[in-house]
Amino acid sequence: STMPPLLSAIANAGRHGVLAKSAVVMERLGQVDAVALDKTGTLTEGTPRVTEIRPLPGSGLDEDGLLALAAAAEHPSEHPLARAVVDAARERFVPLPEALDFTSAPGQGVSATVAGRTVQVGSPARLSAATGPASAAVVDLEETGQTAVLVLRDDSPVGVIGIADRLRQDAAATVMALTELTGRSPVLLTGDNERAARHLAAQVGNTDVRAGLLPQDKAAAVQKWEDEGRKVLVVGDGVNDAPALAAAHTGIAMGKAGSDLALETADAVVVRDELATIPAVVALSRTARRLVV
Ligand code: ADP
Ligand code: MG
Repeated sequence: STMPPLLSAIANAGRHGVLAKSAVVMERLGQVDAVALDKTGTLTEGTPRVTEIRPLPGSGLDEDGLLALAAAAEHPSEHPLARAVVDAARERFVPLPEALDFTSAPGQGVSATVAGRTVQVGSPARLSAATGPASAAVVDLEETGQTAVLVLRDDSPVGVIGIADRLRQDAAATVMALTELTGRSPVLLTGDNERAARHLAAQVGNTDVRAGLLPQDKAAAVQKWEDEGRKVLVVGDGVNDAPALAAAHTGIAMGKAGSDLALETADAVVVRDELATIPAVVALSRTARRLVV
């Protein structure tokens, strides 16, 4: 073709299923020498499902009652964990009470007023910082690789919901390919708990794990590596990944389930829902660079 190499690289990347927002992005992608991957929705399929519902003794709630409270509060959220909770309620034909005053804190959870009471659903680590140690149920669920979500009613824990997601089938191959391309193991950055993160990391091979991170912690980790002279590729899907995507040398968002903010902030978007497209375009952009320099 008579196209300039970087434009033809964009076209090629598009055929591989990655949409780069400009030719400059292809050039920058060719320079990356370190990779940080988000967990939920990036290494995993992003369609987690509720696996266990445990109302706490004394809460006066049964499984459906706990699910109704949590799903009512989660209903407006676009987070994959929220969708899992709402879908579980729908599948069990549990009617949702009305929720008012919805707020969400990226990387932490949601809050709403349900039947006049404040309901919070989110990270046990964050929520129990305010309410004392989380129950044994949390540890129990996390040790088997589940994400435990704590439900509080008027600041008291009323139950724990276990949620699990499947690893993408090309996750391990992608981690291996990225390790070969950069000469370093990718780092797994997650807001989820350390136990579930390590459980998953063990299945994809060699990754370092940074768990329990808030969105700004993910960005700070990336910024630190950038300051040390690395050129970091960040791959993520969530609102919680936006600051890290912005701090990265190059940011790629997972397009299918990606939040609007992640898609806007990223330099490129995976439009075919396959992780393996990422090492493919990194390799491609290196070839394109060699043609222009
Ligand atoms: P990841 O980095 O794996 O994509 P997030 O940063 O989105 O995870 O979320 C980190 C943690 O915050 C979750 O594991 C969960 O405990 C909690 N959390 C975030 N959003 C929600 C939500 N809408 N409902 C329940 N918990 C949430
Ligand atoms: Mg995510």
